[in-house]
Amino acid sequence: MQKRFIPLAVLIAAVLALLLHLGMHAAATPVFSYAKERPATEERRIYLTFDDGPSTAVTNRVLDTLRREGVHATFFIVSDRAHGREETLRRIVREGHTVGVHSATHRYDEIYASDRALVRDAETCAALIRRVTGVQPQVYRFPGGGTADNGRRAALLTKLGFRIVSWNAVCGDEEIARADADTLYKTAVSTAAGKDPVVLLMHDSAGHAATAEALPRIIAHFRARGYVFCAY
Ligand SMILES: [Zn+2]
Repeated sequence: MQKRFIPLAVLIAAVLALLLHLGMHAAATPVFSYAKERPATEERRIYLTFDDGPSTAVTNRVLDTLRREGVHATFFIVSDRAHGREETLRRIVREGHTVGVHSATHRYDEIYASDRALVRDAETCAALIRRVTGVQPQVYRFPGGGTADNGRRAALLTKLGFRIVSWNAVCGDEEIARADADTLYKTAVSTAAGKDPVVLLMHDSAGHAATAEALPRIIAHFRARGYVFCAY
């Protein structure tokens, strides 16, 4: 009897503890909801970032959407692709977006051949941005995400005045072959889940029409969840 009584007491205590815990959790919920009223500086942030452009059709369609939505983004450009698309590059700056350095050529074997090659590549891209837009780029993104040597190489680029920007979420427009807009939207949402700030990697180079198509839904999703859209 004694032996059976003790486990029962333990069970009752455990149930009471569980109920108490649930009760406390329920009581805590209204307090947690005050998070919605946090000051603007504490709101959740998302950085929309577009790599590998400019292109003619995709970049301009992305810009149309961003203008319509009143959202600013960051474009890490490949300067070789800006030749003949100077007006698109100027439009990015004119409409309040940030232009960053990605590469001159986007050819990994050349860019990562040596430290000197890496610096030359970044400076060539930066010079074109300056010449076409009059803006000195402040941010840099490693082509292909960089190499195992990123830490040391980041220090070289930081010395040139660049802030290195990586990402923590993707829409999948490079990772998933022939992904449609719905897949890109869902991938952006799932990879960004629980992150703050979200730095979302997308591509506005030619052939990424699905990314431009997915963008309005991506913006609507994060806006509905109280995210503030930021550019570097
Ligand atoms: Zn790239």
